[in-house]
Amino acid sequence: MDLRFSEQDEQFRSELRSWLDAHLPASMRSPAFWADKSADESFAIRREWEASKAAAGFAGIQWPVEYGGRGGGPTMKAIYDEEMAKANAPSTVNPLGLAFLAPTVMAVGTEEQKREIIKPLLHCETIWCQGFSEPGAGSDLAALQMRAEPSGEEYVLNGQKIWTTNAMHGDKIFTLARTSSPEGGKKHAGISMLLVDMHQPGVEARPLKQMTGQSEFGEVFFTDATVPKTEVLGGEGNGWATAMLLLSFERGSSAIGQYTEFRKMWEEVVQVAAAVDRDGRPASEDPVLRQELAAALVELECLKYHSWHVLTQTSHGKDLGFEASMTKIMWSETFRRVSDAYERVLGTGFSVPDPRPGLSLAELTSLAMWSRSCTIWGGSQQVQRTVVAERVLGLPR
Ligand SMILES: Cc1cc2nc3c(=O)[nH]c(=O)nc-3n(C[C@H](O)[C@H](O)[C@H](O)COP(=O)(O)OP(=O)(O)OC[C@H]3O[C@@H](n4cnc5c(N)ncnc54)[C@H](O)[C@@H]3O)c2cc1C
Repeated sequence: MDLRFSEQDEQFRSELRSWLDAHLPASMRSPAFWADKSADESFAIRREWEASKAAAGFAGIQWPVEYGGRGGGPTMKAIYDEEMAKANAPSTVNPLGLAFLAPTVMAVGTEEQKREIIKPLLHCETIWCQGFSEPGAGSDLAALQMRAEPSGEEYVLNGQKIWTTNAMHGDKIFTLARTSSPEGGKKHAGISMLLVDMHQPGVEARPLKQMTGQSEFGEVFFTDATVPKTEVLGGEGNGWATAMLLLSFERGSSAIGQYTEFRKMWEEVVQVAAAVDRDGRPASEDPVLRQELAAALVELECLKYHSWHVLTQTSHGKDLGFEASMTKIMWSETFRRVSDAYERVLGTGFSVPDPRPGLSLAELTSLAMWSRSCTIWGGSQQVQRTVVAERVLGLPR
């Protein structure tokens, strides 16, 4: 494992820090800034800020310069994630496009698709949604029912998607639909990945309220919506292979950015523990809670070194493939561990000064609730473990 960054990497870090110092106001780094903004207002502010960051050259860190990227390697991307998390920079408005669609387009897209998709995505001109899940197809994704009937130069789409992140803000959706009947009853066959315009009469998005109170995802209904036949990614009928490739990107490689965020949350939880009264003494003096906090810290540090290990591998050109599932399992479970420790520290009857410096209890609680979704999206923990067992360890099916 290599724990050092090159001089060039460190130079990139200081350039990024200087840009953030100059262009990310202190107010925007504070959760209080976002507290009184509606979801639409926050989205618009984040979108504008992210576009200005892309214009300054801090986007698409690992992508080729000819498509609007920075042309850096995995270590530069890890530095970027770490510095963004340290600066409390707003999270991206285009997570599905950036992390999942773009690398898939780079791998299997046509030259035209690379040129038309990557740069507008980086500059937040096009916000992308992912339309995979359906009411009857989640873990068993190949059970999907949405149909795309060929008609002249286009397909006509009918069906429903669900749990679609950014459904209410999306411009386009990369979605899976059946373009032909599965041959020989093989349900993975006859599926294509289509790039569909969401601003058309046959596409209707409806919000779904989450337990955090927000509606980051929704349902998307397709009623005779159309998409040109040229808007297939990875080849007609080859949607299953394209989706599996995309999901390997979704499951991620290095988790240095996540480590930085969760470590900050853990430090907040330790402060809350010192302030909460438990049986006449601070919760941080309760031996059981102390052990929980220590166990969460141990997992955090394991995540850090796992991330460094992954980074060393990828910067030496190793393709992680299915091993990406191990990183997803690790970071999402570590997040849950820190969140569980927070909930146990808080207990049911507590008194703690709020507002307090750092994150408010409402924000910490919202993070803890959000952590529950991270072991579901992108493939649940059970499904990821099966992937690791079968595809990485080679255990029998
Ligand atoms: C916050 C959030 C955002 C999301 N965003 C998107 C999005 O943008 N686009 C999109 O397409 N989808 C999105 N999803 C959906 C997500 O991909 C699915 O929720 C996930 O794949 C699980 O599917 P399901 O909800 O239908 O659960 P199910 O598949 O019904 O699973 C229910 C339970 O059964 C277990 N299970 C199922 N099959 C097996 C098996 N073979 N072996 C062992 N255990 C099994 C699962 O692990 C789980 O615990 C999002 C989900 C969340 C929570």
